[in-house]
This record gives sequence, C-alpha cells and structure tokens, in this order.
Amino acid sequence: MIDRAAEMTAIADQVLICQKCDLSKTRTKAVPGYGDINAEILFIGEGPGFHEDKQGLPFVGRSGEYLDKLLALLGLNRSQVFITNVVKCRPPENRDPMPDEILACKPYLEKQQSLIDPLIIVTLGRFSMARYFPGDKITQIHGKPKFDDRVAYYPLFHPAAVLRNPSLQETMAQDFKRIPQVIEEVRKRREAAGNGGRAPKQSATGEPPKTDDKPTQLSMF
Ligand code: SF4
Repeated sequence: MIDRAAEMTAIADQVLICQKCDLSKTRTKAVPGYGDINAEILFIGEGPGFHEDKQGLPFVGRSGEYLDKLLALLGLNRSQVFITNVVKCRPPENRDPMPDEILACKPYLEKQQSLIDPLIIVTLGRFSMARYFPGDKITQIHGKPKFDDRVAYYPLFHPAAVLRNPSLQETMAQDFKRIPQVIEEVRKRREAAGNGGRAPKQSATGEPPKTDDKPTQLSMF
C-alpha cells in the first residue's frame, strides 16, 4: 500500500521549491494545497492571491472566510476537505494565470487528484472549470454536475466573484447544498460499476506547510 500522505507531502515539498514557470520569480510562498488526503471533496480554485502568497495557504482572505461559511452549511470545516489551485504560485497583481503556467503546474494537480481520489471535484472559478468543462460558461453550468465512472465534476462560482456580486449569494448557497446529493450519486455509480472502493483512510503523517504564519485550526492531510 502506498503511503499517500507521504506522497502528498513530497508533492508539497516539490511545489515549494518549484521553478517550472515564471510565477516562481515573483511569488513569496508557493501554495501547494491544504486539507485531508481522505477527503471526499476536492476544491480547485484558480491561483493564490495576496494573502495566500504571504501565508502559503489556500483561500485565507475574505474569499476563504466565505468558503468556510459555505462549508459550514454542510456541517464541514476545511480540515475535512482538500483545497488547492490550478496554479500554485500567485500571478503578479492577481492577473489571470497564463496557459503555459497552467500547463507547467498541471502535473502537481493531477497527482494530488489521483492521491485523494475524491468523489466530487468542485471547481471554483473560470480556470479550474475550463479544465473539466472546456468552452462552457459558468453562468450557464454552475451547479450542474458532470459524472464519470469515479467522480463528479461540479462547477461553482468563485467565492470572490460572489463577494463582488452579492446577488449571487443565494444561488451559491443552493449550489453548495447540493454537494451531498452529488456525492451520493457518485457512490451509487461507483457501486453499480463495481469500482466503489476508495483507498483505506490514512492518518496524518505529512509535515505542515513550511510557512511562517500557519493557522493552528487546520491540519495538513
Ligand atoms: S505555478 Fe506551479 S509550475 Fe509554476 S513555479 Fe509555481 S508550482 Fe511551479
């Protein structure tokens, strides 16, 4: 049995010193991702912002506080899910990540997804959505899951976009509350396909992110 927690820590260690794209030149801290390696829900955002870049943790500013409130709607906190981004280093001035940067960072995300084996991948914002729903518009497909044999892809608005446009808050809350239903559907589909099993749960063995400013309420993996 592979030590998934150790492998996840190894990815984080690689990300922290990665120089595969130019974002490495302007970042303060890379942001590998954070949460439970046994999580059923994998959230994928776009890239670190100002506060994330300073702290080395995903979704720690106002968007993060809002995400915490949304998780509370499901009776969850962020130590029970896994949160990462399409690019692990902050684009300067919060510009959009470039295609070559997304491509360079892709292997890290793919490996994280494979180690977690989530039941649902929740995309937050355009760039993570484009990975699974190329050519679609978030205004048309938010809250509509797409299923394959082992996972559902579930596009949601980015929390920052909802904070900028409060009229979306009720829609976002309703979309969020449907996550358990989507997970249940994936469970049924896995069982029907005879591939229902997930890797045995592993306890935390990973080192916390190498950051000077880590919140104590969170645990890595
Ligand atoms: S964004 Fe990804 S590929 Fe680019 S330097 Fe950071 S970790 Fe490496």
